[in-house]
Order: sequence, then structure tokens, then C-alpha cells
Amino acid sequence: MSQTIRESSSAEIDSAVSRAATVAHAWAASDAPTRSGFLRRLADGLEAERDQLVALANEETSLGPARLSGELDRTAFQLRAFADAVDAGEAFQVIDEPAVPGAPPAGHPHLLRVNIPLGPVAMFAASNFPFAFSVLGGDTASALAAGCPVVIKAHPAHPRLSRAVFAMASTVADATGVPQGVLEMVEGTSKEVGIHLVRHSAIAAVAFTGSLAGGTALQKEIQGRENPIPFFGELGSINPIVALPVAVREKGQELAKTLAASIALGCGQFCTSPGVLLTLQGEATDRFVQQLAQEMDAQAPHGMLTPGIRKAFDEGVARLVSHAAARRLTTGEQNAEKHPVPNLVEVDVQEFISHPELRHEIFGPSCIVIKAGSLHELQQALQAVGGTLTVTVWGAEADDRESHAVVRSAMHVAGRVLFAGVPTGVAVTRAQHHGGPWPASTAPQTTSVGLMAMHRFLRPVALQDPPAWLAARAGIPC
Ligand code: NAP
Repeated sequence: MSQTIRESSSAEIDSAVSRAATVAHAWAASDAPTRSGFLRRLADGLEAERDQLVALANEETSLGPARLSGELDRTAFQLRAFADAVDAGEAFQVIDEPAVPGAPPAGHPHLLRVNIPLGPVAMFAASNFPFAFSVLGGDTASALAAGCPVVIKAHPAHPRLSRAVFAMASTVADATGVPQGVLEMVEGTSKEVGIHLVRHSAIAAVAFTGSLAGGTALQKEIQGRENPIPFFGELGSINPIVALPVAVREKGQELAKTLAASIALGCGQFCTSPGVLLTLQGEATDRFVQQLAQEMDAQAPHGMLTPGIRKAFDEGVARLVSHAAARRLTTGEQNAEKHPVPNLVEVDVQEFISHPELRHEIFGPSCIVIKAGSLHELQQALQAVGGTLTVTVWGAEADDRESHAVVRSAMHVAGRVLFAGVPTGVAVTRAQHHGGPWPASTAPQTTSVGLMAMHRFLRPVALQDPPAWLAARAGIPC
């Protein structure tokens, strides 16, 4: 793999950022048809090159053509959804408050609140979504829609695909008159490439999806800049599933099947993969957990994205199963020569609460079962999770004390709370939220999926008593 990766030099990174900075003003001032037209043509370009791109992605990721073709569809859908949002005025919203005569606080001047693009965004592609969170993924689409140029840090796990998608995007830019600089790409395996990029004074914000270690290191670099900038990082999540007794009693078998498939989906390489099952003690729960272990033993996940991710998974599982508090429920043994096998362990609830290391994300098909002795204990376990992209609650249909308590705890720690289905799979819509308290997100008030993602890259400016010409231009001076 490494022979195919180029290492961008510091001079090349500087040139890419400088081209982005040069066109930042023009792109910020571009009108809706220019931006939406570019986004739609990028979506068309992905679809036109589907066969070559999916084949390349499959060679580099082992994710399989069906999944990859579906992901390409989602990526094209996402680009068009942002184009529609731009056309509907999402990036150009203003709040116009006419002057109110009289003494303050009731009286006030004319205030026109506008949003301006932040400037060039450094975007770190993720390994696990080679289309949807990579070169033309959600971070790029939302930044372009907001009016920001994007400098992509390609992920070294799919370098040839990244280059092919970027080449297509460059051709589309030329054909649509979008200047070079609006979309740039750098690549490399050394940490220096990413560090040099985020330290560059012309970079105005950073979007990142990846590991807690990588995200924390980059955040530190950003904080060390002379002018620290926003860092929108998605750094890991254990996505608890809360299976309440009524759900387990009524649909245990079906839920065990569904959950096992979700844990093993994509070999567990989703940021939304379920990593902990929270239940209440009881006979029905014991049956449900037994069924889940059997269903997990029956799953046959494909290989992992990179040797590094595989190594991290094997080490994480070894640490977990050898933990004094853990009891293994699945039978499969990890063998580095073969594909990973799903791993399910039971951990005592108080041990889970008192050992933070048991709550670290294991990226891959691995899950912990907790059988709490009371609703209070279950809530404490949820609280201990701290921050997560999702919590799924099965069995909260009754408007009763149990549902109220669990839902309140779930909302406290998660960016998305589901009451049906499984968390793997994130719809791209206006109401979507993909974030949550640390480490799910470094900026929990923002989302990295869905149309609101665009607002990460816009900054409000209040224009007080603007001249008539400026107000008439909705606050855009030129
Ligand atoms: P990663 O190691 O965090 O890398 C992501 C990107 O950040 C890569 O471009 C990487 O470049 C760069 N990077 C990482 N550490 C850096 C540092 N200290 N300084 C500068 N740049 C740095 O993530 P990954 O390679 O995709 O997967 C590794 C682990 O990340 C997985 O095992 C999993 O735990 C986690 N992960 C989580 C999610 C999620 O959605 N939460 C998604 C994917 C992966 P280099 O590779 O060149 O260092």
C-alpha cells in the first residue's frame, strides 16, 4: 500500500493552502447557482465514474462492491442535498431587525445579522467511509456549500481512490469555471503532513473523523497556533443499546438477530457501531443475551480496512477479554491470519462504571453486555459513558417513569437517540444530528452529518446601522 502513497512536501502543502486562500474571497462571494451547480456536477461525476471508482475502492478497502456502490449513491445524494439547501438559501440566512426608536434597552439600532464563510477548511478524510467521509464526503460538501475552499488531507488507507476522485473533481471544476484552489488535496503517511496543514496560518477551520489519539493530537496542535481555530473532530463512540425488559420479553429473538448483524456490519468499522448493551437483570434478559451470543457466533465479518486497524482491534479485544471484570460469551478466537470474529463479553455494572478503560471504543465487531440490578444502576452506567454519537432505547413506548428516566439519561450523553432499529446507518437530512459530548465530538453543538453541518463553517457578523446599499445586498459587500 505504502508504495502508492505520495508524501506532500511542506512547500506543496503551503502552495495548496495559498491557492485556497487566494480564491477564498471569490468562493465566499459566489452565488447560490454557482455553488449548487458545482456540487451537482460533482455528484454527476461520481456516478459517471462509478464502475472504476467502486473497483478501485474495493481493491483498497475490502468493503465489497455492493456496500461501496451504495456509499457512492449516498455521497452523490449528500452533494445534491447540500446543493438544494444552498438554492433554498441555507448558507445566506440573515436576521434583519429594523431600528426601534427610544432609549435602550427597548430601543435599538438597525441590526442585520449575516453569516460569512470562515475561509479555507482543512478536511481529514476518514478510513472507514472511502466515499461518504472522504474526498467528496459530507465535510467537503458542507464546507463548499457554506462558501469555504477545502484542502483535503487524503486518507492513506485509500490513496489511489482519493486521487481518482480528486482528478474527477478537478475536471468538473475546470468545466464549470470553478477556480483551482476551491478544492485542493495533500497526502502522506507522516504525521508531519497533517500537522503542517493545521498549523498553516491561512487555514481557518479543521474537520476530522478518526481516532481519539489522532484527533487529540491535532487539537493540541491547533490550540498551539498563534490564532487557534475551530476544530470539528469526531473521535469515537461506543453507542449504547438499552434493551428494556418489555422489548426483551416481546421481541428478544428478533432483536438479538438485528443487534448481532449491526455489530458485525462492515466488520464493526462504523463510528455508530454498538459497543455496549445495557439491560436489566432477569430471565428474559438472560435468554436474550444467550441468543445474542449465538447470533454473533454465526456472523462472518469481512476483513478490516488496514493492518493498523486490525492490530488495534486484536489488541483491544485481548485487553478486554483478559480484564478481571470480563466474562466472554462468544466462542470465536481471534486469529490474525483470518478475518476477525465477533466478540461479546459480560461485565459487572459497577466494574463498568469504575473502570474507564472498559468504556474505550474498540473499533471492530466487539460489544460489552451489562445486566444492571436496577433502573438507577442502568442510568449510572449510561452516565459513565459520558459522550456518544448515539443511544438506542428499545422498549420506551410506555409513558411511564422507567421510560422518562432512561430517555433523559440517553439524551444527556448522546447526539442522536433512536427508539427503533439500530444506529449503524445515518440518514442525511435537515433534522439529523451526528455529534455528541466528548469524545463523540469536539464541538457537540454541531453535526458532521446532515444539512446543518454547513453551519460549522459559517460565522455570524452583526451589521449595525448598515448603509442602504449594504442592507439591499443582504450584507454582502462585494
Ligand atoms: P486516525 O489514525 O485517527 O487517522 C485519521 C487521519 O488523521 C489520517 O489522515 C492520519 O494520518 C491523521 N492523523 C492521525 N494522527 C495524527 C497525528 N498525531 N498528527 C497528524 N495527523 C494525524 O484514524 P484511522 O487511520 O482512520 O483509524 C485508526 C483508528 O481510528 C481506528 O482503529 C479507530 O479506532 C479510529 N476510527 C474512528 C472513527 C470514528 O468514526 N470515530 C473512524 C475511523 C477510525 P496518518 O495516517 O498519515 O497518520
